[in-house]
Amino acid sequence: MSVLADLIASLDSGELKIVDLTQPLGPDTPVIGLPPIFASSPGVSMDVISRYDDKGPGWYWNTIRMGEHTGTHFDAPVHWITGKDFPDNRCDTIPVRRFVGPACVIDVTADVAKNEDFLLMPDHMTAWEKQHGPIPRGAWVLLRTGWSKRTDPAKFLNVKTDGPHSPGFHRSTSELLAKDRDVLGVGVETVGTDAGQAGTFDPPFPNHSTMHGNGKFGLASLCNLEQLPATGAVVIAAPLKIVDGSGSPLRVLAISPA
Ligand code: MN
Repeated sequence: MSVLADLIASLDSGELKIVDLTQPLGPDTPVIGLPPIFASSPGVSMDVISRYDDKGPGWYWNTIRMGEHTGTHFDAPVHWITGKDFPDNRCDTIPVRRFVGPACVIDVTADVAKNEDFLLMPDHMTAWEKQHGPIPRGAWVLLRTGWSKRTDPAKFLNVKTDGPHSPGFHRSTSELLAKDRDVLGVGVETVGTDAGQAGTFDPPFPNHSTMHGNGKFGLASLCNLEQLPATGAVVIAAPLKIVDGSGSPLRVLAISPA
């Protein structure tokens, strides 16, 4: 398999690079807020088990606690009621081949700068395809919005009196991507794969409903998408193998032309 030897040689020569699409994960990681009638997800807490001290003189380790959907994380189909009955729909049962696919990066940074509630419409998607070619089956579609540059958690979550405001997908675009293009899933820079106002949409949270209702995945809180070309990179996004897990924090890596 010379392709694997070539891969390593290209990484060593700098012809290819590994891009980290992952945000730091810690107690400061912002967590999605839900209306108070629903249960909320805890943020990250870390407690030292020992740190070269009486509790463990030669070693350092922590206990971590968080919701499955914290920070840069993976949404499995079972996360949503529409995806609950698919076979192999949870973190420990999804075939691992489905964690790896070509990246299609759709840059809407300029649109989002003008409208923080921007929704990707089918027209935007087909315009992208005219320029870059069709979105291939099994692709990770990454929505580049610049949102990860919002390092202040309040600006990142962007909650106003009428709820959160952040960009996402129109339902019709999610349907095209899931059914017609048969993608692996979508990835976003925001806290979740639906727009901030999507709780008010019909149906609520249409991207979750559509993607998971078609057995597809989600990646939230990505960063560094500006380091990827529109096409030509490969994304590896493998959640922890949590038994019956609905999702998990993960390290998302892209192999990209330098
Ligand atoms: Mn999630």
